[in-house]
This record gives sequence, structure tokens and C-alpha cells, in this order.
Amino acid sequence: MCLRGEKEVVVTDTFGRQFSLFMPNVGDILPQLVAKGIPVTSENETSPLFINFISVTLPVVLILIFGFYVQRKMAASDNKESEFAKKKATAAVITGSKRVTFRDVAGVPEVKEELLEIVDFLQRPKKYSKLGATVPKGILLVGSPGTGKTLLARAIAGEAGVPFFSISGSDFVEMFVGVGASRVRELFAEAKKSTPCIVFIDEIDAVGGHRAGGGNVGGAEERAQTLNALLVEMDGFGGDDTIIILAATNRPDILDPALLRPGRFDRQVHILPPDVKGRQRILEVHARKLVLAAGTDLHGIAKATPGFTGAQLANLVNEAALIAARNGKETVDERDFDAAKDRMLMGVQRKGQVISEADRRTMAYHEAGHAIIAKNLPAADPLHKITIIPQGRAMGHTQQVPLSDQHAYSIQYLRARITILFGGRAAEELILGQQTTGAEEDIALATDIAEKMVCRWGMSETAGPLAYAKAESGFLGEYGVKSSYSADTARMIDQEVRRLIESCYAEASAIIKQEEDMLRDLAEILLQSEMLDSEEMEIIWNCSEKKRAALRTGGLSLS
Ligand code: ADP
Ligand code: MG
Ligand code: ZN
Repeated sequence: MCLRGEKEVVVTDTFGRQFSLFMPNVGDILPQLVAKGIPVTSENETSPLFINFISVTLPVVLILIFGFYVQRKMAASDNKESEFAKKKATAAVITGSKRVTFRDVAGVPEVKEELLEIVDFLQRPKKYSKLGATVPKGILLVGSPGTGKTLLARAIAGEAGVPFFSISGSDFVEMFVGVGASRVRELFAEAKKSTPCIVFIDEIDAVGGHRAGGGNVGGAEERAQTLNALLVEMDGFGGDDTIIILAATNRPDILDPALLRPGRFDRQVHILPPDVKGRQRILEVHARKLVLAAGTDLHGIAKATPGFTGAQLANLVNEAALIAARNGKETVDERDFDAAKDRMLMGVQRKGQVISEADRRTMAYHEAGHAIIAKNLPAADPLHKITIIPQGRAMGHTQQVPLSDQHAYSIQYLRARITILFGGRAAEELILGQQTTGAEEDIALATDIAEKMVCRWGMSETAGPLAYAKAESGFLGEYGVKSSYSADTARMIDQEVRRLIESCYAEASAIIKQEEDMLRDLAEILLQSEMLDSEEMEIIWNCSEKKRAALRTGGLSLS
């Protein structure tokens, strides 16, 4: 039997059935129950008063407390000098051991070179103003996460020995409209007090992104206000304020065009993930802190970590040290690095970022194919750079100047462009006997160029110098050209485009076959070095076969 509260009794009979009854004086029958040996337990009834408190009073109290809190926050955000707004605009003069300089940034020599001008300007602004030169005041650092954008910004301040004011785009985007804008004003007011200096806006896409896709309520309004405040501040200071504004992003494509106008962030510095040499330099920088075992081969480790960014390499060095310490070792050796790499790769592998050896080979032959064709066609632009380091979505990459509207392109030039595009596929077919999805973008671009040559630029004899609007894409609609044509004409256009593509493709295959030896050498060297610039390619074209054979095993190092 169980007593619940003061009056209710729950009884269990001999069949296990339960009854609940009310008795005014439960206490009276207790002695009888005990005498008969019936077990009695008791349980506290929840008082109606308490239920009342939970369901009614508590929410009201909570709502009141929350309302009070929000009100205080709102009040704070209204107040321009408020602590709340000030809180995150951190300014710091970084000195002593925490100071970062270019010595701490490795593997990006071209970027450092480019930014040295800024350092010089911050140190000796007079030298520039005397001549009437204006140094760009806004510089956008573009690169995927972990490539060292924040590090570089701090290093510029460190090199120049000037104060560094930093704020992150995500700090701006608050729940309360107006806070971000007031933070921007605060930041610049502070910065103007201590020129020359650097203002660094990290993750600028958080404020400067296009309005589309920002789902949060009130966020768009807040973002727009913050962005406007930023633009006003940027336009607001003149040549005598020596302030350089650096901003970092990995999505320059989504930035509001207003940010990129002249006088604002009109210069972009791209930071690529490091190649083998770069990775080795970065490992060296971070290994300075470690007690390395004698003869540790950092070059070997760099070779084994394709695609790693600076941040991942810094992490790798630290993991290796942790593993060595855990095993009670005196020094960090290659086995620790191997173990650290395996552990990190497991993480990376899950995200699908690891490239297999077979994929690297495919990429190397594909990119080398493009390069070989470009070398053999004088009408084409020289190649700028080829690389097999994956960047974001794209796997390998062969850099050529994009087609722009400002130029008049010859038919020879355009044919060369298409032929180069097919160099990748042709090389894969000849050497590896395969067709892969890697050629998707090449094929799409080649088709686009060929279609325009036939339908727009009058470069097909059969189609003649007529402008044909394509029915589906309608890209000539606005010019008022022939917007419809017969089925025969459609068939003729398709045939002409196909003929053009096929003849370029055949030419690509022929060049690849003829230059097979060079292709193989170039691809193997690329596998070793991962990235070759035009200068390095020039060396490969011109050196002896023997020298090339040597490069195939050791990679190419200009230094
Ligand atoms: P990002 O801002 O581009 O995401 P960070 O600058 O925050 O990258 O880099 C994170 C860390 O990775 C740095 O603090 C540094 O330890 C390391 N790192 C990144 N790039 C480099 C580099 N080029 N040289 C040396 N260390 C680097
Ligand atoms: Mg960063
Ligand atoms: Zn390609």
C-alpha cells in the first residue's frame, strides 16, 4: 500500500491490481495495516500551488528578466560610446616576442615581394607623398582558409613596426541593427589617432557579401548598414592619413562590387596553397621551435603532404612534437612526423581532400598536355603557370589569360585556344589510355568559343559572315539579329561547330603524339615540383635530354 500526500491511498490487491481511494483519516488505519504485515510506503504529492508556480509564474518571471536584458543591450547599442560596441574592436601594438614578421611567413615569396611596398610606405610615407604617388589604401588578401592571410596582415604591421587594429567580419554581424556600423566608426576613430597603422578586417565577406542568401531575420539590414559605414570610412580619410586597410576573404566572388571600386579594395593579392618548396619552407619555419632529430628530412615530409596549407603544416609540426613527447623522446624525428601525418590525413580523408597517386598522375599528364600544345602554337598566349595542386573545386590548373571583350582576336588565336584546351584530354588518351571527367571545363569552354566563332564572328566559310542567334541561349537577342532560322541552317551550324572542334582536337592529338617524349618528361617533373612557372618551363624546353632525365627524378629547383 502506498500513501500519496495526506489523503490519497493507492492499494495493490493480491492479484496485483491497483486502486486509488481517498480517506480523510489515513493515520487511523495505519496500526491495523502494520499489524497485518502489509507493506506501506509513502510518496509526496505535488502541491497544486507548486504546479501553479511552474506553469504560470516562472515563465512570466523569465520573460521579464529577458526583456530587461534585451532592453539594456538595446540601450547600449544606441549609445555610441558604449562598452558593448567597443568590446570587440581590438587594437594592439604588437611588440616583443608576439611580434610577427615576414620571417614567420614562408612559401609565398611573390606575395611577400608585393607587400613589401606597403611596408615601405608605412615606414616612409613622405617618400611617396613627395612625388605625389598614391599608394593603394585597401588591399584584399584572397586565399582559402589556412593559407596565412591573417598571418601576413600581422606580419606587415610587424615588419613596419606600426599598430595593428583588427576586427573580424563575423563580429560585425550582430543581432542588433546599428552595432556593426558603430563598431566600424569606433575602429576608424581609434586608428586615426595612431597613424601610421594597419586596419585589418578579417572575413570581410561576412559584411560585404551580396545580400542574397543571408537568411537571418534583420541580418540583411544590419549588414547593409555596416557595409555603408565601412565605405564611408574608407572614402573619408585622405592622403595624409597613413592608414592601410587590409581585408581577408576566401570568397572574392561574392563581395559587393561597391567594395572593389577604385579607392577602396582595388588591389587583390592572391595567396595560393604552397608547392613542395613552399611547404618545406613553412615546415622549416615551424620546426624552429622544435628539438629536431639530426638528419630529419623536411623535404621528404613536404613531398608527402601535397595539398596541405600553411595552417595544416603548422598543425602537423605540433602534432609530431606532441607524439614525440607522449612517447618520452628527447627529439622529434621523422617517425613522429609520419604518425602525425597519418593522423591528420585520416581527418582530411573524411572530408575527401586527399588525392590519390593515380589522380596526381592523371592531373600531371593532363596539365602537361595543355602546356605542350601552348608551346607548339605560336598564335597562343604563352602559359603563365601550371600546377597540380588542387585548389578548391578545380583539380589541376593551367593558367592562361581569359578572353576579354577589349581585344580583337584572330581566327588563328581562337583556334589555338581551342586546341590547347583539348591538349589535356589528348595527353590523357595517348599516355594513360583514358578519358576522365577532368576535361569537363575544357570541353565546355572550347564548345563555347567554337559556337561564337561560327554564329557570331563569321569565322566559318560555310556559315558565312552572318550573326545567328542560338534558339535556346538567345545570346544575340539584344542585337536584333536573325532570331530564327530554318532547321537546315540549324543543322549546318551544328556541323560547322563540330567540324571546328574536331579539327582542333585532331591537331591537339597530333602535336601530343609528336612531342610524346617532352610530354612525359614535363609530366614527371611536374609530379615532383607540383608547380611550374613560365620561366621554369622555358628551362625545361631548352635543356638537354640528359638534363631533363635528371630533373624527372629530382624536380626542378631554380634556387
Ligand atoms: P588564414 O587567415 O588564411 O585562414 P592564418 O593566417 O590564420 O590563415 O594561418 C593559421 C596559421 O597557419 C598561422 O598562424 C601559421 O602558424 C600557419 N601558417 C599559415 N600560412 C603560413 C605560412 N605561409 N608560413 C608559415 N606559417 C603559416
Ligand atoms: Mg584568418
Ligand atoms: Zn584541362
